[in-house]
Amino acid sequence: MDVIIIGAGAAGLMCALTAAQRGRKVLVIDHANKAGKKILMSGGGRCNFTNLYTEPSNFISNNPHFCKSALARYTQWDFLEMVQRHQIAYHEKKLGQLFCDNKASDILEMLLKECADAGATIQLNTPVTRIQANDSGFTLQCNKQTLQCKSLVIASGGLSIPTLGATGYGYQVAEQFGHRILPTRAGLVPFTITDPQLKEFCSALSGTSINDCVVQCNGQSFKEDLLFTHRGLSGPVILQISSYWQPGDSIEIDLLSDRDASVWLLEQQAQHSNLELKTVLSECFTRKMAQLLCEHWFSNTPLKQYNSKQLSAIGEQLNHWRLTPSGTEGYRTAEVTLGGIDTQEVSSKTMQSQKQDNLYFIGEVLDVSGHLGGFNFQWAWASGHAAGLVV
Ligand SMILES: Cc1cc2nc3c(=O)[nH]c(=O)nc-3n(C[C@H](O)[C@H](O)[C@H](O)COP(=O)(O)OP(=O)(O)OC[C@H]3O[C@@H](n4cnc5c(N)ncnc54)[C@H](O)[C@@H]3O)c2cc1C
Repeated sequence: MDVIIIGAGAAGLMCALTAAQRGRKVLVIDHANKAGKKILMSGGGRCNFTNLYTEPSNFISNNPHFCKSALARYTQWDFLEMVQRHQIAYHEKKLGQLFCDNKASDILEMLLKECADAGATIQLNTPVTRIQANDSGFTLQCNKQTLQCKSLVIASGGLSIPTLGATGYGYQVAEQFGHRILPTRAGLVPFTITDPQLKEFCSALSGTSINDCVVQCNGQSFKEDLLFTHRGLSGPVILQISSYWQPGDSIEIDLLSDRDASVWLLEQQAQHSNLELKTVLSECFTRKMAQLLCEHWFSNTPLKQYNSKQLSAIGEQLNHWRLTPSGTEGYRTAEVTLGGIDTQEVSSKTMQSQKQDNLYFIGEVLDVSGHLGGFNFQWAWASGHAAGLVV
């Protein structure tokens, strides 16, 4: 075999089809019973397969320049060309996020067809127990089978969602060949809250979402929708900021990002002084949320009974709600793993290890994580393609 790829996920399949199209003999092996399980689960079953506005700044890495070369050589437009060639119906949901009109399986079937047409073989239910480098490449021990290849590509992904087949195997292989692993943690993940009062507030609002909240943490900010859950906070804006959050950090939420809430409340007081605060707040929030805000944070009396200092304090709280999440939901639900194989020891052009010839790392196993919005798949396509051109 010319090339063995461990991991039949997004990056592995892209690498396989690219290498096989060059005439390389390619075998993809995966311990799972199905290829591309995460693709099937992605984007709520519709796969947010890329983003029209992909830029290196959409990625988090200890080495922010690393992703640039691969992203420039295989762009969102290149992937879109393949999607269009396969006549897959898609749409832009918002913010450049492209989703399938029908099912995520359209994307997986496209990749599997490209692999089959190019002659790449996929072997499932194949856990690797041992890898050895030798003069002609690598020998892999898989149960009773011994496999031989010239180039070995590690595309086994990160730790998020073990029930979808995620393992730390890629890190183990990297360490075997002397690579450094940067600390890993869950990213694009909901926050949990244990403070009893705050938890009760969130839980009572479970299922309620607020459009266009601005959330800030550690100098980063995102503006998207926020969702209350039984255990804490979720929604796109929370998933985005979670990738910048470290345990113990507080976050700041602007629940009314379209206005200066203090000024607005003072205006309301001038115009409708007999209205209760709850009634005024229900102009911007659901009635239930307005009620709970009054119960948990403010009192509920007619606006005329507040002095301007009190109204300003209420507005301040709505625009600058500071809280400290207790933790995250962890790898059980995280969309991505932050950290991973240190990219300082990998070629940004070919994804080849600088420690071991003919060994390659692609996709999420590397210390490159995208923002929410199709960026993680674009990284899988781009890094898979970069390696596929040279293996
Ligand atoms: C629920 C969910 C929804 C998501 N939605 C989106 C989205 O809409 N858009 C987006 O851009 N990103 C999304 N992501 C992130 C995206 O799925 C990943 O970033 C991407 O799949 C990473 O590709 P990969 O090929 O590196 O790894 P994976 O796709 O995880 O593939 C790794 C493969 O390696 C195999 N493997 C693992 N260990 C071993 C082993 N020891 N031996 C053999 N095989 C092994 C696994 O079975 C798997 O098939 C989502 C993630 C999740 C969890």
